[in-house]
Amino acid sequence: MTILQIRTVPDPILRRKSRKVREVNDAIRELAQNMVATMLEAGGVGLAAPQVGELKRLIVLKLPEEEDARILVNPEITRRDGEREVEEGCLSVPGFLGTIMRSERVKARAVNEWGAKLRLTADQLFAQALEHEVDHLDGILYMDHLKSHEDLVDLSKLEESEHRHAFEVEVEDEGLMKSRGEKRVLTAGDMQDGVAEVKAEKIVGASETDLEKL
Ligand SMILES: [Zn+2]
Repeated sequence: MTILQIRTVPDPILRRKSRKVREVNDAIRELAQNMVATMLEAGGVGLAAPQVGELKRLIVLKLPEEEDARILVNPEITRRDGEREVEEGCLSVPGFLGTIMRSERVKARAVNEWGAKLRLTADQLFAQALEHEVDHLDGILYMDHLKSHEDLVDLSKLEESEHRHAFEVEVEDEGLMKSRGEKRVLTAGDMQDGVAEVKAEKIVGASETDLEKL
């Protein structure tokens, strides 16, 4: 298996539309296995073929709670229900995180690496990842769904963020947060007498932090 190079913005291939896979053959299976290895190496939840420079409608996904990766050829979302706000990131846009709306539930169809037809019903992270990866096949990046540029956070500039937000929150006990698998993302904060006065804080659930890597 080969670890492939993950293309990052502004590589123009990320903006192109991928072509349908006409035949699920050994070459596709090999590409899919290499994509799975690349995704796992990068600690990602999903990866689409254009992210490794192949304009083919092929995605791989591995949800944190699942043992095996899924290989989906020619995936199509056939139904979207509900809306929810999510934190999202992308292996092709390293160092950024954005808040966007995704569907609560999606139905999709695809074929697997052996050409068998699949019908999928997904919610939560699975639905989000499916929408994110299928978007890649159409040259769409999650930033295209941002309502404003303020919804995109440059993780390297958190401390010097110009966009300080007005609200203040009390910081929960960090040990408790860790025990729940949560992580604190600060955009600006001060520590006074052991009490943090935090401006613009986001509490990100563990499964959602994995979305830095879709
Ligand atoms: Zn992505």
